Amino acid sequence: MDATPRFAPATLSTGGQSYCMVDLPGPFGADYARLPVVLRLLLENALRNMRGAERGNAVRALFDWLATGTSEAEIAFQPGRVLMHDTTSTPALVDIAAMRDALAEAGVDPAVLNPCLPVDVSVDHSLAVEAYARPDAARQNIGHEIRRNRERYRFLRWAAQALQGVRINPPGTGIMHTINLEQLATVVRVDTRDGQPWLVPDMMIGTDSHTPMVNGIGVLGWGVGGLEAQTVMFGMPTLLRIPDVIGVELTGALRPGVLATDLALTVTQRLRAMGVSGEFVEFFGPGVCSLSAGERAVVANMAPEYGATTGYFPVDDRTLAYLRQTGRPAQAIARARAYLRRAGLWFDPAARPRYTRTLHIALDSIGMHVAGPRRPQDLLGYRDIPGALRQQAPQPAGAPAALPRYPVAIAAITSCTNTTDPGLLMAAGLVARKARARGLQVPGWVKTSLGPGSPAAASYLRRAGLVDDLAAVGFDIVGYGCTTCIGNSGPLPEPIARAARAGDIRPVAMLSGNRNFPGRIHPDLDLGFLMSPPLVVAYALAGDAERDLGADPVGIAADGQPVYLQELWPTRDDVQACLDAGLDAADFRRDFQLAQRNPLWEQLDAPASPRFPWDPASTILRRPPFAAVDAGSLLGHYTAHPLLVVGDDITTDHISPASAIPPDSLVADFLVERGDDRHDLNVFASRRGNWEVMLRAAFHSKTLVNRLCPDAPVAHTLHVPSGQVLPLWEAAQRYRTAGDAVVLVAGERYGTGSSRDWAAKGQRLLGIRAVLALSFERIHRSNLIGMGILPLRLPAGLGPDALQLQPGDRIEIQAPANAIRPRCEVPVRIHRQHGPAQVFAARAAVETQLEVDLLAVGGVIPAILRDTLAEHGKAAAAR
Ligand code: SF4
Repeated sequence: MDATPRFAPATLSTGGQSYCMVDLPGPFGADYARLPVVLRLLLENALRNMRGAERGNAVRALFDWLATGTSEAEIAFQPGRVLMHDTTSTPALVDIAAMRDALAEAGVDPAVLNPCLPVDVSVDHSLAVEAYARPDAARQNIGHEIRRNRERYRFLRWAAQALQGVRINPPGTGIMHTINLEQLATVVRVDTRDGQPWLVPDMMIGTDSHTPMVNGIGVLGWGVGGLEAQTVMFGMPTLLRIPDVIGVELTGALRPGVLATDLALTVTQRLRAMGVSGEFVEFFGPGVCSLSAGERAVVANMAPEYGATTGYFPVDDRTLAYLRQTGRPAQAIARARAYLRRAGLWFDPAARPRYTRTLHIALDSIGMHVAGPRRPQDLLGYRDIPGALRQQAPQPAGAPAALPRYPVAIAAITSCTNTTDPGLLMAAGLVARKARARGLQVPGWVKTSLGPGSPAAASYLRRAGLVDDLAAVGFDIVGYGCTTCIGNSGPLPEPIARAARAGDIRPVAMLSGNRNFPGRIHPDLDLGFLMSPPLVVAYALAGDAERDLGADPVGIAADGQPVYLQELWPTRDDVQACLDAGLDAADFRRDFQLAQRNPLWEQLDAPASPRFPWDPASTILRRPPFAAVDAGSLLGHYTAHPLLVVGDDITTDHISPASAIPPDSLVADFLVERGDDRHDLNVFASRRGNWEVMLRAAFHSKTLVNRLCPDAPVAHTLHVPSGQVLPLWEAAQRYRTAGDAVVLVAGERYGTGSSRDWAAKGQRLLGIRAVLALSFERIHRSNLIGMGILPLRLPAGLGPDALQLQPGDRIEIQAPANAIRPRCEVPVRIHRQHGPAQVFAARAAVETQLEVDLLAVGGVIPAILRDTLAEHGKAAAAR
């Protein structure tokens, strides 16, 4: 291998056109094929975007990786595009609007601040299931959504016209990851450099943890925090340590009746059991060929649930078949094939690249599974649900006659994960068809919903004749968005809500989502099982989560005969027949374009000015205080109060909830005092443009226990020295006024879950200078740094249980800016109010020099502002 690469581009002629490309495998010989495909893609990116010695170092480091399968070296990555959704984009775009204000106040033309990459925003996260089980449910829900979110959506329309490169896909166009698969992903794109057409792999990032779904069709992409996305949008590369790569070898084929969801849940459990945490995952082996690209995408989607950054499937003919199925131009497909073959990026089922670790999964060993009741990695056989429920405490007191003890309160076919693959929706429709034919009905207490990832689903389900069957058992389409998956499940049916409040029952959610953390689906639900769409339909019909569908009937037919699951379950041939009858490649583009012309959206008037005109009375959009040039670094040598002490598995849902704002909460009081209707406050996620609300929403979770005062009301803490239990923001304000620093202490996997940057922004607004945790989830760690907060890893065995922090204890941290390096030791001393001091070294959870630099200036936003002022400030001064 020539480790000092030349960089003369190669040329490739295809389709009558000549293109430049990075010369791969080029000078790298046999070692190139030993690299996992994901590292070959990072190599291509480095060769194309890096310069001089940096490029040589990156290439050497990538090939050095082959010796041990791991590396401490950093590599720069420059994606070609950014994907966002309405609730992560709103705060990012609010930050940009506020940065434009800061620039204008510094005498610089605000219009100079624009993203330098294409940014696609899907308005998908705010659709709630208010209307359901009725033919006009979708129309009602989208009307409701736009009415509720009018001000925020006007702001998005302002961003689309004021900021170059920002495209907004309006409500009704579908879920971002489905849109990415069906519309945006090119697999190989044509770039223009120095006037020449280049072929380059489509690589991207998204401000959503399920961005890896697109890895199912060979597009390398992963989820990042909104703050990291802002760095990329404004021209800084994202730096990553050359990743460890887990190879998952697939052999055999799924047995009849076993679906991609079952595989994804199995992969999740197996990889979590291996302790995967932030690694790249790549699938290899002959079993890959047995999976359609749609099935691969289901597995790729759940990468965050199995702890991975990506779950990559290289491209093969089945990928190209998917591109054809979704209406991509034949010329682009042929070009992609020619490029990937030439660049050594095409899938070879016989290849065994070098991986850091490997896992073997025999596809034919997998059965029908569910996961729950509280975590996606808790895999169960579908018959194990009753047993899992009987282990829950407290057991329900005893239901009124009409309700089971564990009623299925929500049965939702939801999420990009399981509504993008047409085969899964067809399977659900077939269960509905057979149930309808036998006269089965869904009990009245079950809230049913079908929220496909894109409007094309309605076309292919209708053509296959399944829309009426689904509707007959309550699964009318409720809209095209995240709905129940993100917690927008709407109110529970009243009999359920009443009986649950009385403790008579414990309602359960059965959903085809990817997460079931307590409170995620609905604030009053802490039991949820993830499963395939057809199993959701079966459980809706049963209505009773304690029913063993392997032994007991799903229901009683109109003729009085019991109907069992195996009678309803479709065969592979049934599903294939529906796919053959239903799929039409023309649907995907046409239905997307029709949905883009949503008249309710187009009627929203948008301000036409380079600066956004903030409304001082708004409870939705407020200029955030941290979008300032001089936000200030939080590094230093200080002694802090622990503001909160929490345990393991604190999720971003705990830290910054997305779900409904409880009408009896202090957050609700705050909004009502400012004129909002207590009974129409919408979800927390819809308020992410208002920092004053989000500050009060921080840690607003019923299931979060603050160990400083375990019995305190939600989002409260014990203030020292007053001894008062106060709302967090009020305690934080008192500490700030007194000039006292605060930190947070947590256990393992702090920040698990989504990419929401408000989880970090909320902590910044509370004044938290450092988070000390046993471990951090990857994206949240990055978001903390993006807000200037220092993440510190506690030594093993010195988590919250061992530290036993008490109110009045204080934590001294020596982290001056000039001492912080990637992964450096940071001296910590616990000053006990009662007892001797305790000294140990924590480790900075800081991976790169860029992260050190961000901490030194107080985070991403001041860094962008400083760069922009440096570039344009002189011109402004000269004027
Ligand atoms: S995982 Fe759920 S919330 Fe996230 S994008 Fe997909 S549907 Fe939306």
